[in-house]
Amino acid sequence: MFRHLFKNELFFGKIAAFLLAVRHGYRKKPYHNFEHAFGMMHIIFVILHLHSNDFSMFEKTCLMIASICHDIHHPGVSNTFLRLSKNPLAELYEESTLENYHSYMTRLLLDHYGLFSYLPSSEYLRYKKEIHELILYTDLDIAITTKFPLARELINDNNYDDKKHRYLLKSLIMNSADLAGQSKSLDFSGRITALWKNELHIERDKYKRLGITPDRRNDRACAKQIPDDQVNFLKYVCENCSDLLSRLLPNVRPLYKQFKHVRKEWQEHTIPIFQDVQQYYQ
Ligand SMILES: [Zn+2]
Repeated sequence: MFRHLFKNELFFGKIAAFLLAVRHGYRKKPYHNFEHAFGMMHIIFVILHLHSNDFSMFEKTCLMIASICHDIHHPGVSNTFLRLSKNPLAELYEESTLENYHSYMTRLLLDHYGLFSYLPSSEYLRYKKEIHELILYTDLDIAITTKFPLARELINDNNYDDKKHRYLLKSLIMNSADLAGQSKSLDFSGRITALWKNELHIERDKYKRLGITPDRRNDRACAKQIPDDQVNFLKYVCENCSDLLSRLLPNVRPLYKQFKHVRKEWQEHTIPIFQDVQQYYQ
């Protein structure tokens, strides 16, 4: 992917060492691991390939780096958990705690490996700022509550201005790609959902140890709710996000259709999928 996009770029000679360090920077968590980041980066690559002329080399570089780094060193717990457990990270970054942390780790690696050391410092700062913002866009709570409604309003009213609102386009790209594992097939969606729920279950145990009552939906006993939760998640989050993106980048429409297809499969195959999901609850 990097060879295809960047073989003539000056940083290309250092990219392999950088990517190996990024891979090493991911912890072995059930869901937030290097496989998830690689899957996201692959979708970003496909989007850039399908809309090659719509993005500058600067944007392509930052989108690829931000996607592969976006969950680096993820601790396997949520922003809410970090806040409620009074983790120092939550005091350092009051909003988008994890995303700020991933961005910080990314900037450390960029500095250490000198990926853009050939650039003047002001230009290097521009790259780091863009990558930082792209990683912050992966805070899904903020995207759902503020960016999706604004993007829909602007698109519906034909008021979307590519220069002024390009950050919204990039946010939709980052969010769609982050969620895209759910679009691949029913089996794959079932597998990663189980892994994701497993991570939430481990978080629930940590809540209990702290004497905090966690969200009951993450309880193992509530696993039978998973198919219904998935249908809602696919419909109201994944389809919504990819639908908006495909109105701005029409070649991305198959991603929206695939989310919809997988959602219908969850609706039709609730029982076998529920059993599949159960097997990951070990
Ligand atoms: Zn992610």
